[in-house]
Amino acid sequence: MFHKAHWLFTLLCVGSTSAIMILMSLLYLRVSENSLYDSQFYSFQKDVNTIATNLEETSTLSMQWLARMEAQNDYSIFIIDNGVPFLYNSLRDGMHSHSKALLAESLDAYISLFADAPVANINTYSNIWHTEYAFRSPTEQSHYYCSRIDIGKNNTSTQIMILCSLTVLRAQIIRQRILFLGIISITIVLLSVFSWLFTGRLLKPLQENYESQMQFIGAASHELRTPLSVILASSECCESATAEEQKSFFQTIRKEGRRMNALINDMLTLAHTGTNRFLIECAPAQLDTLCLNAYEAFEPLCQKKQVLLSLQLPEDSIPRCKCDSARIAQTLSILLHNAVSYTPDGGQISLSLAWDHKEGVFEITVTDTGIGISDADKKHIFERFYRAEKSRSAKGHFGLGLSIAYEIVSAHHGKISAEDNPAGGSIFTVKLPMT
Ligand code: ADP
Repeated sequence: MFHKAHWLFTLLCVGSTSAIMILMSLLYLRVSENSLYDSQFYSFQKDVNTIATNLEETSTLSMQWLARMEAQNDYSIFIIDNGVPFLYNSLRDGMHSHSKALLAESLDAYISLFADAPVANINTYSNIWHTEYAFRSPTEQSHYYCSRIDIGKNNTSTQIMILCSLTVLRAQIIRQRILFLGIISITIVLLSVFSWLFTGRLLKPLQENYESQMQFIGAASHELRTPLSVILASSECCESATAEEQKSFFQTIRKEGRRMNALINDMLTLAHTGTNRFLIECAPAQLDTLCLNAYEAFEPLCQKKQVLLSLQLPEDSIPRCKCDSARIAQTLSILLHNAVSYTPDGGQISLSLAWDHKEGVFEITVTDTGIGISDADKKHIFERFYRAEKSRSAKGHFGLGLSIAYEIVSAHHGKISAEDNPAGGSIFTVKLPMT
């Protein structure tokens, strides 16, 4: 599921960004190409103006001058005198057939473009006028800017056709397009790699969350199955049992029902953590009173198990701690319950409270002389449903207590940790800030 989502997000990311990038590039190319064509056209017009001015000033056409103009600007200049191509062209290239065709095409283009339209750039003070236009040669398959200069003198007419080839410009434009295509392709590849990594990172916490939820559901179902199967088996046996046996079966059903109830409560607490349904209602509370209450609650159990439970409270009065007293009491209960469960008969448990006024932190410790926790287990004991191998058989222990304690302490911006008791056993420390 996450693999598919990963692909989808990557495609979405790359697709949308690439579409915007391609659109912007096309827009840029269009503007840039138009401006290249425009600037070429303006410089061509400027040259034509210079030629026209020159023609106005000199009464004769200098072939050297025309040849220089052609060579300098890569133009093709044709002179038509009274409808006959002038000697200049004949001398230059013997009027190759392709030049003839080009000239004819440019004249045809002129006629088709301006037959009905007024002629542009007419110099009213002289009899020289010129018109610039663009045309495409069908035979050469190439584009040109063209200018037709008309000179009218003594009932004779001379036309000068100047053709500016756009081949170089178009090659430059094609090079620019290829460059853009390359840049866009490389960018899309980089973008794909980046998007893949980025969406992967984005989805990782979601995937982890989903997997841990699946694990939670799996472990919860597993834990619920045992008491449920006992309840089902007991109720089936009840049908054919004597009144005495039925009493015992009912007791088992009730006991397993209570186990299920406790487990479901724990699961609900954990399910609500991290959501706005896990509310802690903080109010100033006396932690020494909470510790005393916890001590009193566990004393009978310890006595029964012949475990010595002691309580150490600060001698001086301590400030009140802004906390959810019910949740802190629940944490103490979890720690003491574990201490009692994992401490063999004759062991010792001590509950102590200290106030570090420099740091502004309350420190609650539960020390026992029990079975202790290996370093490998210490890394996992705050995880949901984690139980060290040696405590797996402990009844009524689902591996949820410490994860609930962890969530409660974290919700109070505090810290909970476990370490070895030098005298054997474990020490659990809860640090809570004053507010
Ligand atoms: P459980 O309900 O199984 O006690 P917890 O989350 O409270 O679950 O504890 C997780 C595991 O941590 C326990 O299964 C046990 O292995 C270990 N543990 C917790 N407290 C103690 C302790 N005081 N002494 C030894 N092991 C402990």
